[in-house]
Amino acid sequence: MARKTGRRLLSWANSPCHLQFNPFVLTGYRPTSGTLGCVYSLFYLHNELGNIYIHGMALMTLLVLLPLTIPWGQLGWGSWLGGTHCLACLAPLAGSVLYHLFMCHHGGSRVYTRLLALDMCGVWLANSLGALPMIHCTLACWPRLRLLALVAHAFLSTIAGWQALTARSTVARLRAFGWQATAHLLVFAVRGMGLGTGAPGSLPCYLRTEALALLGGLVNVARLPERWKPGAFDYWCNSHQIMHLLSVISILQLHAGVVLDLIWAAHHAYACPAD
Ligand SMILES: [Zn+2]
Repeated sequence: MARKTGRRLLSWANSPCHLQFNPFVLTGYRPTSGTLGCVYSLFYLHNELGNIYIHGMALMTLLVLLPLTIPWGQLGWGSWLGGTHCLACLAPLAGSVLYHLFMCHHGGSRVYTRLLALDMCGVWLANSLGALPMIHCTLACWPRLRLLALVAHAFLSTIAGWQALTARSTVARLRAFGWQATAHLLVFAVRGMGLGTGAPGSLPCYLRTEALALLGGLVNVARLPERWKPGAFDYWCNSHQIMHLLSVISILQLHAGVVLDLIWAAHHAYACPAD
């Protein structure tokens, strides 16, 4: 019975109202189902399958990759930076998998709203915690300024988180995270001008992290390429899947930059101007 209902997919017009957020994806919507039905949807083709598997496989890979590549043994007291970095990398992927897997739950819009909030929390954690090693290493020689920058970033992140959770559109959500990205660019500028410290190779990684995340957000808002040919990208290669792919590469770039910075910090490979 569950098998039959699981495979009877719906058109955009027949899908629940709260799932009609992309009018250019015309078919492949799962009917509403219970928790087991949602889990069972991992095993047949529908229009959320690509989204679930892109982030699901990235999550599994990073669960192995992160512990192996973070220099825990060298970090000492700085291990908290490694821990927050792991959370920054894994939270957006875990939140996204849960959101896309269970969005067709028969709990309706009430459950959907909570899942969307969970997804947004994951992105918020990535943006907020992901920047901590970068700020920490950039201002390594100025402990008071570093504390001030971390407090300011926490304040800005709180506002961005609130705006993202209360946003009513994808554009408003993208704008909320834009404030955090602007703050990060400010720290990049400090480092780029040679005023900050940190591993020389990590800044290009951080720039690619922000650029890929921004590009993914813009593609998602623009609903491209499905806007050009509605119905042709229902199952594969639509804007949301492209955003998922770009976000995975973005997280990998963040990780590459953070590992370089953590190794640099662990070896105290810097000479402060006042030394
Ligand atoms: Zn998503």
